Amino acid sequence: MAGVSYPYPYEAKVSQTLFDRASLVTPGGVNSPVRAFRAVGGTPRFMVSGTGPYLTDADGREYVDLVCSWGPMILGHAHPAVVEAIQAAVVRGTSFGTPGEGEVALAEEIVARIAPVEQVRLVSSGTEATMSAIRLARGFTGRAKIVKFAGCYHGHVDSLLAAAGSGLATFALPDTPGVTGAQAGDTIVLPYNDLESVRAAFAAHPGEIACVITEAAPGNMGVVTPGEGFNQGLADLCRANGALYISDEVMTGFRTSRAGWYGVDGVTPDLMTFGKVMGGGFPAAAFGGRADVMGHLAPAGPVYQAGTLSGNPIATAAGLAQLRLLDEAAYEKVDAVSLQIQGLVTEALTKEGVAHRLQTASNMFSVFFTEDEVRNYDDAKKQEAFRFNGFFHSMLSQGVYLPPSAFESWFVSTSHDDKAIERIAAALPAAARAAAEATA
Ligand code: PLP
Repeated sequence: MAGVSYPYPYEAKVSQTLFDRASLVTPGGVNSPVRAFRAVGGTPRFMVSGTGPYLTDADGREYVDLVCSWGPMILGHAHPAVVEAIQAAVVRGTSFGTPGEGEVALAEEIVARIAPVEQVRLVSSGTEATMSAIRLARGFTGRAKIVKFAGCYHGHVDSLLAAAGSGLATFALPDTPGVTGAQAGDTIVLPYNDLESVRAAFAAHPGEIACVITEAAPGNMGVVTPGEGFNQGLADLCRANGALYISDEVMTGFRTSRAGWYGVDGVTPDLMTFGKVMGGGFPAAAFGGRADVMGHLAPAGPVYQAGTLSGNPIATAAGLAQLRLLDEAAYEKVDAVSLQIQGLVTEALTKEGVAHRLQTASNMFSVFFTEDEVRNYDDAKKQEAFRFNGFFHSMLSQGVYLPPSAFESWFVSTSHDDKAIERIAAALPAAARAAAEATA
């Protein structure tokens, strides 16, 4: 790529050729923006296979994967039991457009794990889950306005692509062309971890707010842990004001514990959204919660929601196989791997004198290049993000694949064994040096 200089010389010729081809037929050469490496520069790696903690790119280079498909691959890639379940399902046919037992079994597994989920509807992406949950909240309450928090990402739902304006009860401006003022106009964007602003929004708009949606523990501005009592405060304020509390567990669900973040903080939402881990690497997601609220969904009730591929038999087979392997021992393993890697990162950055802070939500973690606590999106943006570029490319050149942005969670799996962790440990000193030497 002309004009981009790399801190380390390494080539990705086949990936570059594929990226050039892709760029002719696909906007920006990718099917989801962060994959294009725009934040870090360089050639996006086109992956051809994954096994356990490793990915192999089109140039034949192997990487320890710390993205895990942005969360879903909690057992690592191509886990034999998941592959077997997929193979068994695929030969029976790939889509029927009718109900099937796999969907029932997956719904039962979700309901059994997460007490506040009395009923659940399967969809195909996290975006669809949050979009549908919001429609349902509006249909159930008969109210229009919704509250979200700056820095929380809930997929590319029109009304949720509004993060601008962290002032009290600021009505959001759309973040992207194509979202109209009308679509974003009923969205109130508030600073994360600030219960006072939520209280003030309810006071300013009595009887108008349908729901508050929040990431159960945000991972989309980097990992920002909810402050003591924040989620419970949201639940209480919603209840007191006749609004629904929606906990978005697309990222944390079935990852941060058997019962996701609910299993960590025990705060009971009215509705929850899920995706990622529950699909075992396939497009499967869900929203669920109180039976009286879910009962408003078509065909039981009047709020319309549907999907040709919802509850797809391959996706449900993969998801169910993955969830069934995720027992307490599996979460202990993921947590231990995460702690080990966190320790190595801290050690390497400290040795090089790089100001940094690791923030965690159980086994999800991210590295902020600042010493200060990051409690919200404004804090996150204050970090020295320019240090991440050199850090990232150094790790990549040494065979470790990190999320290509300083504002993302890192993800690990049960398959990250000693050998994979040794490679990370070996790569970190040079990467920390690159971070130390970076200039704005
Ligand atoms: N909600 C959260 C918390 C997410 O992290 C994401 C995706 O990263 C979504 C919703 C959207 O999910 P999807 O990309 O499957 O549409």
